[in-house]
Amino acid sequence: MTNLVSLDGKKGLVVGIANDQSIAFGCAQAFRAAGADLAVTYLNDKARPHVEPLAQALDASLFLPCDVRERGQVQDLFARIGEEWGRLDFLLHSVAFAPREDLHGRLTDCSLDGFQMAMNVSCHSFIRMARYAEPLMQAGGALMTMSYYGAEKAVDNYNLMGPVKAALEASVRYMATELGPKGIRVYTVSPGPVETRAASGIDRFDELMEQAARRAPRQAIVTIDRIGSLAAFLASDAADGMTGNTVYVDNGYNIRG
Ligand code: NAD
Repeated sequence: MTNLVSLDGKKGLVVGIANDQSIAFGCAQAFRAAGADLAVTYLNDKARPHVEPLAQALDASLFLPCDVRERGQVQDLFARIGEEWGRLDFLLHSVAFAPREDLHGRLTDCSLDGFQMAMNVSCHSFIRMARYAEPLMQAGGALMTMSYYGAEKAVDNYNLMGPVKAALEASVRYMATELGPKGIRVYTVSPGPVETRAASGIDRFDELMEQAARRAPRQAIVTIDRIGSLAAFLASDAADGMTGNTVYVDNGYNIRG
């Protein structure tokens, strides 16, 4: 991998590694390759054995649990980071969930519980993380989350995740405005479709992949190391001139009419 940016001396938190196909893992590898010291989280005891070897491969100096549905776990996570590091330079939130029965039906039919759960895990958890990261970013920093084109356009089978991701992207713009004066930059990264565990929950995902590969100007599916290159750039001081953006990394798919 080509190292275009330096994260030497920076401390970053990565939330959202489930396995070696996770977008968060591609990002974490890029952060590490650029010199960052990482904290990595795992969802729960069941997920831990799958994530621990990856955290070791990344030389992560902190390895902590984080299920954003569990009250207090996000706060505890940032308290530990405060105790161990005393500061944080960047955060990657690469987390999403919606109950299958709601995700597979029409948005029009989705349940209140399903919608609230999807908003909590996929959107409000990022807002909470920003709140706890703020006091640890006295010297400024970068907060990043993951969205998808279905936030902007109605994409077949993306269903209730469309409005959830739209709320996430709008939250990024508001938080960028609120935190900008403190030197904290906030970004949405919007990758094209990638075959991951979360993606396997979307109906007919193979059709989305096929369409992306056929219609993207680069005529290929984006890889997690390319998503990582973008995230490493955004985490670095080189991205200091931009904040609040939704940045596509989709081999150009979003520009097609
Ligand atoms: P993934 O399954 O590898 O990652 C999703 C992560 O979310 C997992 O690590 C899982 O543990 C975590 N998660 C779910 N519920 C959680 C909870 N309650 N608390 C804490 N963590 C929880 O899949 P991925 O595709 O790498 O997804 C990462 C992000 O990228 C998601 O926001 C997804 O919407 C977004 N995204 C994915 C694609 C794609 O095609 N795969 C495209 C655009 C955006």
